[in-house]
Amino acid sequence: MPTDYYATLGVPRDASADDIKKAYRRLARQLHPDINPDPETQERFKEVTNAYEVLADPQKREMYDLGGDPLASGNGTGGGFGQGFSFTDIMDAFFGGTATRGPRSRTRRGQDALLRLDVDLAEAAFGATRDLQVDTAVTCQACHGSGTAAGASLATCDLCRGRGEISQVQRSFLGQVMTTRPCPQCHGFGTVNPNPCVECSGDGRVRTRRSLTIRIPPGVDHGTRIQLAGEGEVGPGGGPPGDLYVELVVAPHPVFQREGDDLHCTVALPMTAASLGTSLQLETLDGLETVDVRPGTQHGQTVLLQGKGVPRLRASGRGDLVVHLEVRTPTKLDTQQEELLRELARMRDEEQPGGPVTATAGGLFSRIRDAFK
Ligand SMILES: [Zn+2]
Ligand SMILES: [Zn+2]
Repeated sequence: MPTDYYATLGVPRDASADDIKKAYRRLARQLHPDINPDPETQERFKEVTNAYEVLADPQKREMYDLGGDPLASGNGTGGGFGQGFSFTDIMDAFFGGTATRGPRSRTRRGQDALLRLDVDLAEAAFGATRDLQVDTAVTCQACHGSGTAAGASLATCDLCRGRGEISQVQRSFLGQVMTTRPCPQCHGFGTVNPNPCVECSGDGRVRTRRSLTIRIPPGVDHGTRIQLAGEGEVGPGGGPPGDLYVELVVAPHPVFQREGDDLHCTVALPMTAASLGTSLQLETLDGLETVDVRPGTQHGQTVLLQGKGVPRLRASGRGDLVVHLEVRTPTKLDTQQEELLRELARMRDEEQPGGPVTATAGGLFSRIRDAFK
């Protein structure tokens, strides 16, 4: 069963060529590797591009509609990303027509940007407000984005006469072939900029360092991306800005490990306290908490502090704090302590009668195990 390319692009089967292009452009912006470099998104980007490759080409689309898969190996195109799919087609989808639809606009949307921000566990759990410095492109104040020097304006390109493309007729063994390519003089814009703005060299924007404040909502985690709409680079020619994505990098905490909305930590306690029971004071992310250790606690048992974990990001309530108890056996005993322990062992009928433990492993260990049950 071939992949459902219509579903991949999220368009109906009777979608027009224009709808298909719009859908691809929207997805490509979201999934572009420059914006989302993680492998999963790149894989999705390839799938979406493959789907577009098929559905944007009337012949391939027809073949696919008839039940074939034009990208499957054995169909002559070789399959895979990028093959049989010209760069122009991709640029065309991105920029809404370059080579074959007349001059392209000098005004374009700016690129999205990705920034990583280091936060600690408490900031991720309870939220925070942070100031950021962003190196970005802003609209040139000298020309207000037009890219032309004061009093100057763009001129029609004399090579392509404003068409933005150049057609050439070439002789080949097939006869005369007409090829069309973007005009090399104006790069497809149809206009040239004879007097560019000196501040921005005609780009309409300049690079600068900008400060902005970001609010980190409670419950975010390592890898969470916060989208700041319109805080990316402004586009060339005074185009609208892209978005800024801030990806959070949560530093490991010395005490607490996070698993989903739950926090985990390990508390060591002496064998005697585990046996007799005790009450511990634990410094948690939101203050001192009392951990009740019941008498007869075994190594590895846990105490649950309900609702003391991380607040849930898109729901109410909080996760739990799970305290793992690590029972420590004393390693250095003085004579009196040793005598007391031997006395205890005798009283509990757990005394080792002498000789190596291995000699009586079956009997002695099972007796000890039973005694601790
Ligand atoms: Zn300028
Ligand atoms: Zn030109």
